[in-house]
Amino acid sequence: MTNEEMNVIIGLEVHCQLNTSSKLFCACSADFRGDAPNTHTCPVCLGLPGTLPVLNKRAIEYALKVAKAFNCVVLEKSEFCRKNYFYPDLVKAYQITMGDNPLAVGGYVEIEDDAGNPKIINLTRIHVEEDPGRLVHMGNREYGHYTLVDYNRSGIPLIEMVTEPELSSPKEARRFLNKLRAMLEYLDVFDPEKEGAIRVDANISIKGHERVEIKNISSYKGVEKALIFEITRQKNLINRGGTIVRETRHFQEGKGTTISARSKETATDYRYFPEPDLPIICVADWIKDIISPELPDARRDRFMQQYGITANHAKTLTGDLKLAEFYETIADVGAAITASWTADILIGELNYRDMSLGIVAPHASEFKDLVTLIRDKKITDKAGIEVLRVWLDNLRTGTKMEKPTKIVERLNLARESGEHLRGIVEQILASNPQAIIDHKTRKKGALNFIVGQVVKETRGKFDPREIHAMIAEFVGK
Ligand code: ZN
Ligand code: MN
Repeated sequence: MTNEEMNVIIGLEVHCQLNTSSKLFCACSADFRGDAPNTHTCPVCLGLPGTLPVLNKRAIEYALKVAKAFNCVVLEKSEFCRKNYFYPDLVKAYQITMGDNPLAVGGYVEIEDDAGNPKIINLTRIHVEEDPGRLVHMGNREYGHYTLVDYNRSGIPLIEMVTEPELSSPKEARRFLNKLRAMLEYLDVFDPEKEGAIRVDANISIKGHERVEIKNISSYKGVEKALIFEITRQKNLINRGGTIVRETRHFQEGKGTTISARSKETATDYRYFPEPDLPIICVADWIKDIISPELPDARRDRFMQQYGITANHAKTLTGDLKLAEFYETIADVGAAITASWTADILIGELNYRDMSLGIVAPHASEFKDLVTLIRDKKITDKAGIEVLRVWLDNLRTGTKMEKPTKIVERLNLARESGEHLRGIVEQILASNPQAIIDHKTRKKGALNFIVGQVVKETRGKFDPREIHAMIAEFVGK
């Protein structure tokens, strides 16, 4: 069988930290990032003997918001369980999670398959559980290895969302996660800026063979990489006549490879049993009172209606809540030009600089000024990009706070009158006689060479079409 003929089957388990203000079973603040280790702890989240968990109502409310948005069915009775295993980050040697009676079952996410057609990915279940602490591995060759443990994360509320094994490629998995992340962000139940707020386990197999689980991929961008590596590994092994063993593997982010971790535990290994310290929860009725905000698909449709922008622009702009909000604050400059400068140009420049929109969003009015200058033809598109780059570099380094209008002034990029252009064209033509001869003898690229010289001389202050027209006046088309 060729590699292309082997069907890939992927299922995901996504853990997402809910952004409640306190932890799942105690009053400790859940906002621990940047604080010293072990400063957000109490006897409950340290698992000391004699302490009892008290369920955070807000965490259940957030989980119900998610269940409603994804069209899940909330069970009449949901039950917390103890999942027993020993690990230094797990204070009680069991994790409080949900077993056979989770919060909700079913539901689905609509994505696009690799051919661009709509595809439904069904959800198996959604449940609520506590996050363990965090291990920090220290040391190097000289100082020896040791591990520190930070319990600030111990007891942070998580929802775990499990998909049916219906994803067929790493790209589909990426689109699924992007959609999921956007929806959770729109629901305002999690903060995508927080490191490790989404962690993914991936089950992956080739049809007819055993499946392998890749645990704890901490960046959701790493998921696609891990899957690509794992598919290649499994296909090569099958092609060489080898057997895929059912196992857990770890993804090594830096190397982009997976390594075998241990043979896969089964549910019985965890000795799940009902958590005696928490009552059974009955929240199915509560779902009626949960108010759903506008979700990405609805907002995309509204953008197309209200602003008359293309489906692609609407999809890009609504794929991220902050981006959608950013667009809406400045769209009155002109819906189409703003969509294009935001979705096509700004996002590209941000990605190139590895900057997040969060840095730019507070300065939306300045970006709006820039788009206005372009709209009013005060500067050319080319000059606009130059100004944008300078402006973003300033924001990134925080060295200089210079508005786009000031950058245009300082770099002398304002469009000038045609008379000024005429002078420069004359000058360039006079100093490049060979190029004129080349052009007249239809030598390829000669005209572009002359245009290039003029663009260079005028530093993008004129529209290339205007330059072309002016040169044609002198030397013909
Ligand atoms: Zn606590
Ligand atoms: Mn879990």
